[in-house]
Amino acid sequence: MALQALNNEGIRAKWVHLPVMNQRVEGLISLFFPRLCQACGSGLATGERVVCTSCLYHLPRIRTRNGQDNAVARHFWGKVRVGAAAAFLQFNKGKRVQRLVYNLKYRKRKDIGVFIGHLFGTELCRLDGFQRVDAIIPVPLHPARQRSRGFNQSVCFADGMSRALGVPVDNQLLCRNRPTESQTRKHRFERWQNVHDVFTPLKRPANRHFLVVDDVITTGSTTAACAEALLSLPGARVSVAAMAYANQL
Ligand SMILES: [Zn+2]
Repeated sequence: MALQALNNEGIRAKWVHLPVMNQRVEGLISLFFPRLCQACGSGLATGERVVCTSCLYHLPRIRTRNGQDNAVARHFWGKVRVGAAAAFLQFNKGKRVQRLVYNLKYRKRKDIGVFIGHLFGTELCRLDGFQRVDAIIPVPLHPARQRSRGFNQSVCFADGMSRALGVPVDNQLLCRNRPTESQTRKHRFERWQNVHDVFTPLKRPANRHFLVVDDVITTGSTTAACAEALLSLPGARVSVAAMAYANQL
């Protein structure tokens, strides 16, 4: 029942936005297509969207005051020259954040990416190092992967950030030359071999500050490879923002 309801959310979303729809009709629709929190699966109350108030309160936030010196930024030290870096949530297996990422990627709930991106964006614009960004660059999927999934989850996250930051998304700047295998079981050197030169810039804009955005940073090697490709552009600066950070490695 709960899974069916999750799948019905898209159908429901089409109808509740019709201008003639009033609260009574919406209440009736909720009986058949309940709106569920994408982090815990419980029903959403009126006024709640995507994630319930309780989950919003309990989500494991990574509180960052300084974009240049925090756990995520330190992850890239000595690997690639990243100006500022931050992640919104701590990724823990079997918990709310994993459910959010799963529902975004595999149940194609793009609104999760946009919602979290917007929340994070409103905070990021006040954080040192994230001002004066010229373009948001979602980590590209390989075209074959994008075709099979139907969308790139990082673009959804980027769209939410874009609305909050007032900065455009450019998902045409980088091209992913080949798919990469899962990074988590590889040794450090193998990870770098696996992603080195995997991204190529298709244009040559100069003197830009790029914000690379990804869904989850685990080893960080894919994000770093993206940053490396962007830093090959003249006068480029690169910062990084992720929906979640998994620092188990
Ligand atoms: Zn919830």
